[in-house]
Amino acid sequence: VGMPASAVTGRAESMGVPHVSGLGGNPPANPLDDARTQLREAVALLGYDQGMYDMLANPRREVTVSIPLRRDTGETEVLIGHRVQHNFSRGPAKGGLRYSPHVTLDEVRALAMWMTWKCALLDVPYGGAKGGIRVDPRHHSRAELERVTRRYTSEISPLIGPERDIPAPDIGTDEDTMAWMMDTFSVQQGHTVLGVATGKPMSLGGSRGRSSATSRGVVHIGLAALAHRGVAATRATAAVQGFGKVGRGAARFLAEAGLRVVAAGDQYGAIAAPGGLDIPALEAHVDATGSVVGFPCADAISPADLLEWDADLLVPAAVEGVLTAANAPRVRAKVIVEGANGPTTPDADAVFTANGQLVVPDILANAGGVIVSYFEWVQANQAYWWSADEVENRLRRRMLQAWEQVLAHATATGRPLRTAATTLAVERVAEAHRLRGLYP
Ligand code: GLU
Repeated sequence: VGMPASAVTGRAESMGVPHVSGLGGNPPANPLDDARTQLREAVALLGYDQGMYDMLANPRREVTVSIPLRRDTGETEVLIGHRVQHNFSRGPAKGGLRYSPHVTLDEVRALAMWMTWKCALLDVPYGGAKGGIRVDPRHHSRAELERVTRRYTSEISPLIGPERDIPAPDIGTDEDTMAWMMDTFSVQQGHTVLGVATGKPMSLGGSRGRSSATSRGVVHIGLAALAHRGVAATRATAAVQGFGKVGRGAARFLAEAGLRVVAAGDQYGAIAAPGGLDIPALEAHVDATGSVVGFPCADAISPADLLEWDADLLVPAAVEGVLTAANAPRVRAKVIVEGANGPTTPDADAVFTANGQLVVPDILANAGGVIVSYFEWVQANQAYWWSADEVENRLRRRMLQAWEQVLAHATATGRPLRTAATTLAVERVAEAHRLRGLYP
């Protein structure tokens, strides 16, 4: 395989802070342990050797950068950023950029690995990557976030590009972040490179349907999974954890599909209404106040109760490690569709399998985002733009095709959906690697 596996620097590990999960008070978990546990199981089932495991368990490249930020006050503060490129066997690396105070190198490594499996599973011609900056965007002005983004982009610019690695939004970043990245990279190159980032604004080479793509995909899969379990959408209830880029749209599209969204929450709190939340009104409330908390016509509930709420469908759409051995036995949903990356630990997975609950894994359920990112990159590279219908139809087809494949594989092997999905994905990556051969 032609890409050198060089670690550019590895400084941040010693500066690591413990990963903090979405449920305050839980012991810190390391998502990389979860990702490697899932990989180890797939490698064993596929009969691959330790060498293959080691190659897939470790990123091809990772870079850690210092980002000196001039604060609006005139003081200088130094932030830490990472970009991890997990795999290139099937094409350029691809994955989001996260701004959060909880970012660690191990978290970014796990998220990069999951991107590799997601792209392979959906047959999007990319490897996997992820970036992160340890920063709380809520404590910085837009001007400061722009300076952080531009300096970070400049530091990682030798590693990114339409044929190398293509960042996209994730937690704490948005289309403005991608516009600044694209501009910084383009200015350094001396010409505009629209294909260097996805999730850009529509007027700057973005794609129709990108901002809603992850949520739409979650709902396509959620409806398919409920139908598979014999639950009619119009009689079903749902609880959604997270009200950001993924959860908010998921709640909206679920309600539009006729489900009653009976509970929702964000990082500030959670609410429930047995008759169903009025989602357009809730969205207006969130726009006005910044949170679901205090929404009239709903009861305040605890964020822990939200995950255990009595609903047919649970959509965890926030962060990693929220469904654990500790709370899994109390989770009542029949179907869990992972809008977030890595919300379920392997221990919790075992509980859900034992209890006959269906977990649709992140690498399938939330792949709508990277699918439309791929469409955006194709459109940008060809300078030819598709209609909204074209994007939506192709997204739905790809999601449902992958769902059918994973379901068929799970049914044939008697394995949970996550095992089926990870095995299919790892096999595709290993096959590409085998055909390319090992260089030198
Ligand atoms: N951050 C999103 C994810 O975790 C999107 C990645 C992308 O579009 O490249 O899948």
